[in-house]
Amino acid sequence: MRGVGAALAEKLQRLGVNQVQDLLFVLPLRYEDRTQVVPIGALVPGTRVAVEGEVQLAEVVFRRQRQLLCRISDGSGFLTLRFFHFSSAQKEALARGTRLRCFGEIRRGPLGIEIVHPEYRRVAADGSSSFEETLTPIYPGTEGLTQGRLRAFVNEALREVSRASVRDWVPAEVLDPLGLPALKDALEYVHNPPREAQLAELAAGRHPAQRRLAFEELLAHHLSLRLLKNSSRAEPALPLDDPDRLAKRFIESLPFPLTGAQKRALKEVEADLLRDQPAVRLVQGDVGCGKTIVAAAAAARAAGSGMQAVLMAPTELLAEQHWRNFCQWFHPMHLPVALVSGSQSAKVRRSALDAIASGEVRIIVGTHALFQEGIDFSNLALIIVDEQHRFGVQQRLRLQEKGRKQGRFPHQLIMTATPIPRTLAMTAYADLDISVIDELPPGRTPVKTVVVPEERREEVVARITAACRDGRQVYWVCPLIEESDEVRSQAAEDTAALLAEALPDVRVGLVHGRMPPAKKDQAMLAFKAGKIQLLVATTVIEVGVDVPNATLMVIENAERMGLAQLHQLRGRVGRGAEASSCVLLYRSPLSELARERLKVIRETSDGFEIARRDMELRGPGELLGTRQTGLAQLRVADLVRDSDLLPRVQQAAELMLSAYPANIAPLAARWIGAGERYGRVG
Ligand code: ADP
Ligand code: MG
Repeated sequence: MRGVGAALAEKLQRLGVNQVQDLLFVLPLRYEDRTQVVPIGALVPGTRVAVEGEVQLAEVVFRRQRQLLCRISDGSGFLTLRFFHFSSAQKEALARGTRLRCFGEIRRGPLGIEIVHPEYRRVAADGSSSFEETLTPIYPGTEGLTQGRLRAFVNEALREVSRASVRDWVPAEVLDPLGLPALKDALEYVHNPPREAQLAELAAGRHPAQRRLAFEELLAHHLSLRLLKNSSRAEPALPLDDPDRLAKRFIESLPFPLTGAQKRALKEVEADLLRDQPAVRLVQGDVGCGKTIVAAAAAARAAGSGMQAVLMAPTELLAEQHWRNFCQWFHPMHLPVALVSGSQSAKVRRSALDAIASGEVRIIVGTHALFQEGIDFSNLALIIVDEQHRFGVQQRLRLQEKGRKQGRFPHQLIMTATPIPRTLAMTAYADLDISVIDELPPGRTPVKTVVVPEERREEVVARITAACRDGRQVYWVCPLIEESDEVRSQAAEDTAALLAEALPDVRVGLVHGRMPPAKKDQAMLAFKAGKIQLLVATTVIEVGVDVPNATLMVIENAERMGLAQLHQLRGRVGRGAEASSCVLLYRSPLSELARERLKVIRETSDGFEIARRDMELRGPGELLGTRQTGLAQLRVADLVRDSDLLPRVQQAAELMLSAYPANIAPLAARWIGAGERYGRVG
């Protein structure tokens, strides 16, 4: 393209543009209506509008900071333009009487309404200069490239790129029934919507042209994950047929029968492990549904096949808890279990690593850090990742690669408590097989949740006394004052001291992120053993910790926590047969969002419902940890807004995989930038 040198090409590359055609797929984030000018007297703060007026005065003033103020008028009122960065030439050009057309956000300033750093240009005084013909698209920004310049490039690309070269890789038999426009038409429209276009419809992303692009984008992502799945499944793995029947013996040794849902999930896992291709399965189930048993049975199957299995947990606390459970379950079966943890002495750790390398121990538990350390396994056949919903495609691939031995790849099992609506999971995790445990073990009483203002803290403290008197245990989760671990830990220490003072008869313990691991461990163990009655903790206890005798949880500053986090925390109680409750302490005033969150968490304990509401409230990004799933880079599609398209995306993917395989690679290449491309696609 003319006028694009090396420096500019590099800037464009940051937007994923490597060739002229790619410019068409840099899609607007939003639109502005600059097709008409609003009289100054009719301006409303908070709106973004075009304004025209004559310069009355331009002066440099010092108010905390040097700034240029320019006052314009159109006869209906005055408007101030405020610049913090400006050149003297710029000031000179704003001579009294100069006519300007400005664009920007109207806000209330100290001198009346104003625009800070408006886009502006001089226009002829006779009012003859033309207006924009179409709505103005606003593109994702990149440093050193103005919107105006980018707009010009995109429009040039629209003229240059012929209809033939923007091929519709999505077959007509998919598109026609959906009533969506052809690709080139959709692109023309979104880059230059006519002035009569509905701004509201465009802002909501509901125009058919946008839907057309969103559909294609989702399809591209889904297909590339499906290809990845196919290629990773094509590698060899060792079937785990468990001739020693350790998995069966383990299940039979449990003091309770598995729930129907556990049985179903386990059956699916076992079918996977029997194959000579690597399984990559996600086991999804709400907190407390009993995923650990499924993980343990899979590990026993590997051990019973003479191979090693490793279970990785997100925190040391959890790793140690799993290790303890595993020891309890497997020692009677004469199966040693190794723990690899950061808090071990060098000597203990060394001997664990030696036993792993020699193959003497077949079941290994550790944190996710385990794999960064390049541990030498003797014959690893199964990797289990626990409580990890932010475990992306790239990480799964890396894990598979690292566990490779003599050309064979390990099976992978990922356990997550973040329930994701099914259609969404099938899109975001299209490279995985999914099992759902949708049933809690019997005998659980639902946790009663109450929302209480901070002012009634004393009543809450009285409840702690009552619970402890009844022989129950209590969690107190400390506020999330700041992101800093240090500040949080300090707050937890202070709270523990205050509570210990207020509750002289209660044995108070403390865990937080900055305690030495051995001390943390000690406190957790003491809590589990009932020696500590009230455990004051930071959110380190968020995932997985299992103490069935704990029946009361108090969460401070609950208004600052997200829904998923509150649900996870609350999942620490209600694990036994006893009735449990969760007290959410909040500090006023509550924001609209916080109020809504607390209402959701009070009203429902169904993780799927909470996930659905969470997505409505703040989008799926957080929920999925989209950075890792690759869906963070979605340019037009929105997983919530366009969720009705997801089933169609899946149907279309099936059709393309079977009937149009050659279209898949170019489609994926169009939407998924080279840098972010998944695995071996394209
Ligand atoms: P999560 O799915 O949140 O990881 P866990 O595996 O920690 O849940 O299980 C929660 C609790 O439920 C544990 O105490 C576990 O022993 C118990 N449990 C698991 N399965 C069953 C079952 N089928 N019947 C009764 N209790 C069970
Ligand atoms: Mg768990």
